[in-house]
This record gives sequence, structure tokens and C-alpha cells, in this order.
Amino acid sequence: MKMNRVFLKLSGEALAGPKKTGFDEETVREVARQVKLSVDAGIQVGIVIGGGNFWRGRTSDAIDRTKADQIGMLATVMNCIYVSEIFRNEGMMTQILTPFECGSMTKLFSKDRAGKYFEKGIVVFFAGGTGHPYFSTDTGIALRAIEMDADCILLAKAIDAYMTVILR
Ligand code: UDP
Repeated sequence: MKMNRVFLKLSGEALAGPKKTGFDEETVREVARQVKLSVDAGIQVGIVIGGGNFWRGRTSDAIDRTKADQIGMLATVMNCIYVSEIFRNEGMMTQILTPFECGSMTKLFSKDRAGKYFEKGIVVFFAGGTGHPYFSTDTGIALRAIEMDADCILLAKAIDAYMTVILR
């Protein structure tokens, strides 16, 4: 089965390597090199990244859940900016889309905009999850992958496993 448009979910912890928190550059470079093999083969790649290497909404009982989830969504934006820059450094074109305005740091998501980037061979980062509290980036990737007519979703988690969801 030929896969033309593939979505990849990286958990935040998958970026942290042995450190478990923040970024581990060599770990992220290795991900970038693997993704580049697909991009060079003409596959359109969409990336969703979690935020668990910094924060999850359920991390604190002391603050309002909506505010805690907003911190989590911003963590996913930070992660996408970091990983996007490493991808560029490894020779790929990238753009970051968010469901809410982040000034000049990202561009606002629209299906048409994302589709144009994919057609140009640009790796598209879907940052900020769904934009709504009480959700996770796993929900975010499912929504975006369906909306963008992706062929499959690959999930890389910090557990010793991966999952492939074939959409069509
Ligand atoms: N988040 C949210 N809405 C979304 C996606 C994420 O509120 O649509 C927040 C939520 O607080 C979540 C955090 O962002 O805990 C980080 O996302 P996730 O838990 O999916 O990251 P992962 O565990 O995959 O690193």
C-alpha cells in the first residue's frame, strides 16, 4: 500500500532522551534523519508533538485545569519550534501551524494552508493540540489527520512500543 501523506506523533518525552525532561539534541537529530528518508522519498509528513517533557495539564492540582492545559498547549508549541529548527538544520523545509494565533512564531492553521505546504514538500508541524483544554495531542493528531486526508498515523511513545493507525 502506497502511503502519500503520513502523520507522526512524538510524545514530549520522546524528545528528552535519557534526560527525561527538556530536549536531547542527538535524540531529536536521529528522529529528523529518519523522517528525512521519507521526505526525500516524496512522502508528505505531518508532525504532532506532545508536551510531557515540560508539563501536562494534570501535573498540578493547585491551578485551574483550563490554565494548566494552556501551559501544556504552549509546551507543545515550544517543542515544535525546537524540533522544526533541528529538521531545518538536517536539510528539510518546515512550517508550524497552530489553532490559535502565536504572533510571528507560528501561522494559523487552515486546511488550505496546510495542504499547500504539503504539496511543496514542506514538513508541517501541527502545534498547540486542538486549542482546547481537557484534550491531549493524541486527540489533536486524530482530528488533523482526518481533516487533512492522511493515509496513516504513526505514534511514537515513551513506552517500549509504537502504533500505526491506517486511515484508508
Ligand atoms: N493539551 C490540551 N489540549 C490539546 C492538547 C494538549 O489542553 O488539544 C495540553 C494538556 O494539558 C496536555 C498537554 O497539553 O497534558 C501536553 O499534551 P500531551 O499530554 O498530549 O503530551 P504528551 O503526553 O504526548 O507528551
